[in-house]
Amino acid sequence: MKKLLKIDPHTHSNGISRCSHVTCEQIIEQKQAAGYDGAVLTNHCQEWYYPPEEHKKYIRSVIEEYRRGKAYAKSRGFRLMLGLEVTLNEPHYADWLLYGVTEKFLRATPCLYQLTQKQLFELCEKHGVLLVQAHPYRQSPCAPEYMHGVEINCSPTDLDKVEQVEAFAKAHGLMITCGTDYHGAFNPYHGGMLVPASVKTATDFAAHLRAAAKTTVFMEEDEKTYLAPRFL
Ligand SMILES: [Zn+2]
Ligand SMILES: [Zn+2]
Repeated sequence: MKKLLKIDPHTHSNGISRCSHVTCEQIIEQKQAAGYDGAVLTNHCQEWYYPPEEHKKYIRSVIEEYRRGKAYAKSRGFRLMLGLEVTLNEPHYADWLLYGVTEKFLRATPCLYQLTQKQLFELCEKHGVLLVQAHPYRQSPCAPEYMHGVEINCSPTDLDKVEQVEAFAKAHGLMITCGTDYHGAFNPYHGGMLVPASVKTATDFAAHLRAAAKTTVFMEEDEKTYLAPRFL
């Protein structure tokens, strides 16, 4: 059997995410030391960071941060992929992970945090991007028809919500992703997703998840595969 790669699809670096305690270089070093092969950099895009008219400028800084990390990752044989975590207020306050974005896609976006869930979903659908509600039970799940999946979040305060996430995904045929929401070494939890070696970029990652219509996650020593019937 071919070796699957371990990735953490939910990480934050402190050049962009003010709540993070690690640089993108440290994320790469720490994740590599913990046995991961890759990560998706999902820095925050939220309204208290910048006014709407500065969205383009903000996106440029997100891309710059990613490129610096990407170069360092390349030198160490680690796969750093571009992502984003957008905080929306409609239909209610919630965080959204975007998988499958490109620099070109991000540069062309309107101010993302001003969109509704439906508008963001339609934009993502149009560009092959997957929209996943992060830690849906930290608040409550939004409309299942306007999302591709929900996340099992490995923060200490979210690990008791795994069964709720599984039940919601099952009820609506949605994907399940799993990430640690890495903000620094204070969360050493070993969780994430297993993907084939052909996944090298964020677009590969999204395309793989869509085509497989299933995801395989790991949480410490446990591995689980979830089907996403909506994508069959
Ligand atoms: Zn954060
Ligand atoms: Zn996050």
